[in-house]
Amino acid sequence: MTINGKGLIAGRQRSGILSMMTLLMLSMITGCSQSNPNQGTIPEQSPQAQATVSTPVAQLGKTKVVTTFLPIYLFTKAVAGNVADVEILVPPGTEVHEYQATPENVKAIATANVLVKNGLGLEGFLENTVKNAQNTKLAEIDASKGIKPLNEISPVVKTAKEEEDHEHAQGNPHVWLDPVLAKQQVTNIRDGLIAADPANKVTYEANAAAYIKELESLNNEFQRTLQKTPSCTFITFHDAFPYLAKRYNLKQVAVVQIPEDQLSPTDVQNAVNAVKKYKVKALFSEPGVDNKLLSSLSKDLKLTLRPLDSLETGETDPQHYFKAMKANLQILETSCK
Ligand SMILES: [Zn+2]
Repeated sequence: MTINGKGLIAGRQRSGILSMMTLLMLSMITGCSQSNPNQGTIPEQSPQAQATVSTPVAQLGKTKVVTTFLPIYLFTKAVAGNVADVEILVPPGTEVHEYQATPENVKAIATANVLVKNGLGLEGFLENTVKNAQNTKLAEIDASKGIKPLNEISPVVKTAKEEEDHEHAQGNPHVWLDPVLAKQQVTNIRDGLIAADPANKVTYEANAAAYIKELESLNNEFQRTLQKTPSCTFITFHDAFPYLAKRYNLKQVAVVQIPEDQLSPTDVQNAVNAVKKYKVKALFSEPGVDNKLLSSLSKDLKLTLRPLDSLETGETDPQHYFKAMKANLQILETSCK
């Protein structure tokens, strides 16, 4: 199986639940997205964003920038505004962790001036794709440059027998979910774009400054709200929130390796024990995920299952980051009460 359910990668391991999620996600969410990423998978997209997503070549000598997946696209688009063409390689609705590059991706990189990635080992498909593109003039921006990755900061509870490990050799990559680290990513993208296209320096600086200001006020809002519920512990099925948890004094317990078909009594007991041990207050799935195993586990654990967004998929307007993060804040506030 090449495509896994969006986001339900448990960070370190692929859990058995993925194949089930895959079926659900493919039928419910991605639908026909594999053949046509511009229809049905990108709701409420602005005409401008739509144009840039599908622009095959640079227009009128504009710098052509390709980005890997949604959050990096959002940050790059925010900085580039209209002075560069920004494209995305992994269409929203397609899982990034196990992404397989397409011939179109190779073409996009072959004709690009700049490539922006999240880094920290997230984009496993990229190295070979870049090699195949043979673009000697390509400038690469690592948005996580200078960010110290975290390893294993969340307790990981395994609910089934351990499978092959696939460790994050370069640490947990989900840095974009911490608004403060997102600021660092935007700054790296700004500096990389200025280096590649100095003629538009003033625009890149102004756009980045405006977006960073919004990130700062988002950070303030998170701080103000979550300081009322210190050490709130939550369970996720995707090890995506350790940076956010660390920033705001929350605690993520990542539960991984839920079996495919059903939970054994031991699985349930392990999860129940984890809830007691860590005094867990909340259980998070992801938006658009409707899974019977998770809802039945939530009943067993007597915890409400709510969606927390990893932003690995969603709308392509740069403002979507704030919309989704504010929704996350509301969910956290409600759950941690
Ligand atoms: Zn992830």
